[in-house]
Amino acid sequence: MDEYKLDKITKLGEIFKVTDDGYLNYQEGKTNDDLPNPFQQLGKSRLSVTNLLTKTWCELREYYDIYSNMPKFITKNIRLGKKGHSALESSAHKVFPELADVISEVQVPASKKSEIAKLVDDVDQFYNFASSWCTNIVRIVDLFKNGEAREILVHSYVDCKSSEFIKELPLHKNTVDGSQKEILISGIIDHLKLEGTLPLIGQFTKTLDTFIDMGIPKLLDKKQERLNDYKISVSDIKTRSRLSIPYQKNVINSSKLQVMYYRYFLENLSLNPEHTYYKLLLNAQKRNYDVDKPLHAVQIRHLLTYYGDFFYLDFLSLKRGEKIGFVPLDEFGGDYDGGKNIFINDYDFISPNLKQIYPLLFEGTWYKLPTLRYLAARMAQLYQVFQPNRLENKLRIEYYMGKYRFAEKLFEYDFGELNRHLHDSMGFWMGKRQVSPVKSTLKTFSIYCNGCDYSKVCLYKNKNVDGFKQLGNSLKKIYSDS
Ligand code: SF4
Repeated sequence: MDEYKLDKITKLGEIFKVTDDGYLNYQEGKTNDDLPNPFQQLGKSRLSVTNLLTKTWCELREYYDIYSNMPKFITKNIRLGKKGHSALESSAHKVFPELADVISEVQVPASKKSEIAKLVDDVDQFYNFASSWCTNIVRIVDLFKNGEAREILVHSYVDCKSSEFIKELPLHKNTVDGSQKEILISGIIDHLKLEGTLPLIGQFTKTLDTFIDMGIPKLLDKKQERLNDYKISVSDIKTRSRLSIPYQKNVINSSKLQVMYYRYFLENLSLNPEHTYYKLLLNAQKRNYDVDKPLHAVQIRHLLTYYGDFFYLDFLSLKRGEKIGFVPLDEFGGDYDGGKNIFINDYDFISPNLKQIYPLLFEGTWYKLPTLRYLAARMAQLYQVFQPNRLENKLRIEYYMGKYRFAEKLFEYDFGELNRHLHDSMGFWMGKRQVSPVKSTLKTFSIYCNGCDYSKVCLYKNKNVDGFKQLGNSLKKIYSDS
């Protein structure tokens, strides 16, 4: 850790001037116009919701972290947090296996072994991304089958000039008119839960088709239940190493804003499936994925093995070149030539058992193939279930130690507050405003600076603390308490 800290500080010393006393020369109220803004410095075409929360601890610390260009140090607490999240995730859903694990189960002739080894190297990122979309589809349906869902993907776009949410991206000739001015903001919702006395759908519907075509209200109606008798609650999970919740104001505020972003994203994605479809395509394209690249045969194998009831009819429609019931996809005239695809037709990857269960899928060639475009279509249809009137306005933060949920905080969704925060945060990322470190009081310095990697070299903190030392006792007390 010390070496890591030293590396960061050395790199920052090369970027920011260092004072004679050895402090990094960040000065309140001044900007360095020669520097790229934080977003350019990050070097990505997107941000995450957590990126937007620049004041979770201290924005100056965040700023230094960005310019140091070093990966975050994985602390014991971060590791524990990840483990806790994974445990909760796998208790609610079947977790999509890693490509290497799936491949190790595939029985293929020796002549194919080198091809497989290459796959692990080549396909990994695309595979993981496509898997996360497959999983997302299944999880949204799980919400209505089991009453809860974990780790749900959401995203939105922000105009980097106006710092406003972009409600609808302009469509042009059936494709989204993507430009550099919109920034993708992505997030993962830890926990969605159905509230109310609703019947769970259970095994009522077995295919995506019936689920989507009938719509949730109709499904409930069919079960003779009142419509809209349920609400969906949105919450974020914080894992703790002790049975205590954070006391730092900045941390609590950020956690609340985080869930507000998630709620807004869900609502926005629910409004218009066609627009959501194009937003999803742009999302994948901004990450440099080819939306028309077919899913790999091992992925098809996995989807059919675990969710065959669900995806089978869709896959059969694609194979036969039939419509799936979503106009933008059905009318898409792109390159869907199954004959060109080396993977899906390479039935060696498909187990004999699956070939027996789904013989129609594995004879002859596929006219159309399952791709990210197909997944985007189904996902866009599914997001409609999160219409604004179904989303709880009371949002939630849940605190866990291991698998034990020991506390929760409820608070109201406030779109005005969220909007103000977005403007403020984008001001930071676009370099339109000054960096805003923690408030200058002895109390805040003792809360936030002690564990900070830059504590010894931070000019802002040390200059102010030195200033306090010069004050008389009564003034010092005022600055300690405020
Ligand atoms: S030392 Fe304090 S003020 Fe300076 S970056 Fe760290 S937390 Fe912020």
